[in-house]
Amino acid sequence: MNNEYFSLDSIDEALIRAERNKARALRKTRWWQQKTASGTCWYCGHKVGFHNLTMDHIIPLARGGRSTKDNLVPCCKECNSKKKSSLPVEWDEYMEALHQRKA
Ligand SMILES: [Zn+2]
Repeated sequence: MNNEYFSLDSIDEALIRAERNKARALRKTRWWQQKTASGTCWYCGHKVGFHNLTMDHIIPLARGGRSTKDNLVPCCKECNSKKKSSLPVEWDEYMEALHQRKA
């Protein structure tokens, strides 16, 4: 076995892979079916239909989030790509703007 295996980076990678697998398994459960049945994006509240929803980690795996039921939400493609392209602070601002619009 080589030393690389024990480096922090590969442990993180293994952990993220394990969490991705967990998320994939959860996607097949009744819990997820019910969560996406209304076809509503958890972030922006738009009804986009369940097959247009993706599974999103509220706290990304790379930032220490885990594939737990309270960290996984249905997300529309628009929010998903916005989240991916935003800095965490920009995403927070976007969420705040959405929240104000709803209130
Ligand atoms: Zn959305």
